[in-house]
Amino acid sequence: MMSPSIHRPSHIEVNLRNIKENVKNVIKHLKNNEDVFAVVKANAYSHGMLEVGRAALEAGASGLCVATLDEALSLRESGIVAPILVLGITDARFADLAAQQNISLTVASKGWLAFTQKQKFDGLKVHLKVDSGMGRIGMTDRNELLEACEIIKNDSRFIAEGIFTHFATADEPDTKYFEKQESKFKEMIKDLPITFKYKHMANSATSLWHNDQGFNMVRLGVAMYGLNPSGEAIELPFELKPTFSLHSEIVFVKKVPVGTNLGYGATYESDEEEWIATVPIGYADGWLRRMQGFEVLVDGKRCPIVGRVSMDQLMIKLPGPYIPGTKVTLLGKNGGDEITLQEAAEFADTIHYEIMCSLSERLPRIYIN
Ligand SMILES: *Cc1c(COP(=O)(O)O)cnc(C)c1O
Repeated sequence: MMSPSIHRPSHIEVNLRNIKENVKNVIKHLKNNEDVFAVVKANAYSHGMLEVGRAALEAGASGLCVATLDEALSLRESGIVAPILVLGITDARFADLAAQQNISLTVASKGWLAFTQKQKFDGLKVHLKVDSGMGRIGMTDRNELLEACEIIKNDSRFIAEGIFTHFATADEPDTKYFEKQESKFKEMIKDLPITFKYKHMANSATSLWHNDQGFNMVRLGVAMYGLNPSGEAIELPFELKPTFSLHSEIVFVKKVPVGTNLGYGATYESDEEEWIATVPIGYADGWLRRMQGFEVLVDGKRCPIVGRVSMDQLMIKLPGPYIPGTKVTLLGKNGGDEITLQEAAEFADTIHYEIMCSLSERLPRIYIN
């Protein structure tokens, strides 16, 4: 893995205090006293998996969710003893490893259980996954689900910890497809031959805008990171605090005459005398080439990114002379202005999740407690 460039001024600032507040406020908002499992996959949406995991547990989360067994193992290695659920499919050959580390695995098919039965393992916690309409992983057939339950019932090495599904449209104002999934899931899990500690279906959007009565666990991701899961399509029921900002500094400044070309391809040409600054961040840091033409904040003022974004550096047009060392904010507050993840996502024609997750390991994460 690339190690962070700590001697360069570009960094991500993570506000753990606000993460804790968001977790507490979501818990307060829940109507059915559900346990919250904080979703810290993908390095906690780029925030730092261990730090966020610890903060969420301190704020009242009952467990953590990750995407891969390796993410779960890394949390265990760092001393996290809380329940951890791997949401993706784990190769059945690693059942023993998961069980030994008290890591819960997602079971998406009967075949996975049958294959796992041939392995040597004991005390493996499993969550059965039902595909109610997301179409990604999980069982769609009630008979297969019943057979999976029979396998678990008759093999005491399995521990029936959970059964769950995932929504495709919980973040949309139109609830028709959501309701279709909800009733399909409820039908699928009616009168099963085993009982599960956790029955769950809520992601952030579901926990904010729907009532999951009859269920007792929430998988809380993006809302914990202060973001509206819908972008701007649905209003939040309460305020979420921002947790993530991206900053750098000017490292080079020059005054260029009219007609000066800048950057690869010489695509930019100054149409007046301009103050141009160079900022040490580029697409290798995850500030993608398509951010050309977007803005950054210097001294509370918006400055356009001019010319192509290169791998490690980009140029901005300043409103006047500023010296090297001046703070540059790419995401977050600076002076009286703010650039939000949502604004960056809209510029890049994507969602805030992707903007965060694109930011690379080269950027150090600095934590505010
Ligand atoms: C990522 C993920 C979540 C969290 O989703 P958010 O929208 O970030 O709350 C919940 N459940 C599953 C299965 C996921 O993959």
